[in-house]
Amino acid sequence: MTTDILRVDGLSTRFFTEQGQVNAVSDLDLRIERGEVFGIVGESGSGKSVTARSVIDLIESPGRITDGEIWFNDDGLAEAVADDHPEAVDGSFVNLLEVPERVRRSLRGTSFSMIFQDPESSFNPSLTVGEQIAEAVEVQRRASANPRSTRAKTREYSLGSLVLSTVLPSRKYVSEASRERAIELLELVGIPDPVERADEYPHEYSGGMLQRAMIAQALAGEPDVLVADEPTTALDVTIQAQVLDLLDDLQEETGMTILLITHNLGVVARMCDRVGVMYAGEIVERGTLEDVFDDHVHPYTEGLLGSIPDLEGPTARRAADDRAEKPRGGGRLEPIPGNVPSLLDREMGDRCYFADRCPKAMEDCLSHPPEYDGAGSEEHEVRCVLATREYTEARALPTDYFGKADRAAADKHADPDGTETDVQPERAESTVEGTGGERR
Ligand code: SF4
Repeated sequence: MTTDILRVDGLSTRFFTEQGQVNAVSDLDLRIERGEVFGIVGESGSGKSVTARSVIDLIESPGRITDGEIWFNDDGLAEAVADDHPEAVDGSFVNLLEVPERVRRSLRGTSFSMIFQDPESSFNPSLTVGEQIAEAVEVQRRASANPRSTRAKTREYSLGSLVLSTVLPSRKYVSEASRERAIELLELVGIPDPVERADEYPHEYSGGMLQRAMIAQALAGEPDVLVADEPTTALDVTIQAQVLDLLDDLQEETGMTILLITHNLGVVARMCDRVGVMYAGEIVERGTLEDVFDDHVHPYTEGLLGSIPDLEGPTARRAADDRAEKPRGGGRLEPIPGNVPSLLDREMGDRCYFADRCPKAMEDCLSHPPEYDGAGSEEHEVRCVLATREYTEARALPTDYFGKADRAAADKHADPDGTETDVQPERAESTVEGTGGERR
């Protein structure tokens, strides 16, 4: 019997801008097991957050999911929608992209919750923190009261209901029990004096406390899947560690599934069971922590690991060199040359998207590589020709190949009758933050 809670097949999310179509996520497959922490790691602009928002149905105009299926494993939901939408049901799985919007909306806060990057802009400044968490609890209570009726969940938690509770003081939208539960949740995430703090407004909280409060709010619905989008980015290092400890403890306690989005490999090493490395809207390498940290194949994964600051010191580094281990960071930081590519459809081309930054680009890389099995566990998959053949200098592309090719394409676009100009590539550099934390 499967333990998967979420299966994403062929997901593509596009943004239709004045500059053209942006392929933020392309043909992405993902499988997440119940109770695991799955990490997605990559540079800014690689499509991590758009993937997370697509899963939880939070893509806003001008973006939309243009292709794919998102299968969520939930017996009760499958039973509730089977009669009206049989095409959306496969056993206990429901394709969330085949059910009405109101059904997907009913799952937010109850089956799926999200911790956003910036808690200060995510809380309503005009309501107390306690009120906002209590509302989330109330949603869960009403949903639990009508577990088989997705319609009832949304009707009860509607704008009309909110307006009535405002104009009729005797009609309380949030029950006393929900308020008490909100205080319990604040206590659970380590907010001191939770009874008093529940009556304070977001601006009265520090950044770390507000992030904890957001975690409390996300837990209010007792979600099956918690999506944490860069949950510690806005925090200083000490508070980051506290928040990660808290998430770790809560995950162990509740057994919930976490989809963790981060650009920090130290966070991945510390928190995750499996990981996907994302680049230009695709997962280019995926597997267990051992696959990705020890048996990686993709040069981008190697680049990310090479940009982790060394916290082990020269002795450990020499020992690792002696054992001829693959690099995990250490010594001089090696930034990945260049920048993430434009995801504009007309500029993406048909080659490996990492080719212009890859130190091992060969002629074989001029067509887009499929996913190959990696050398590690059964889970290990990699979108790189190096999974099937050795790098040879004889087949290597000249170092300025893409500078010339890209400039020639740009010149041709601007002046179809013009002559090609030789241009040397500019080599900007970027790194990915990492703490090189201990693997759990
Ligand atoms: S397919 Fe080629 S260019 Fe792309 S990452 Fe692999 S070796 Fe580098």
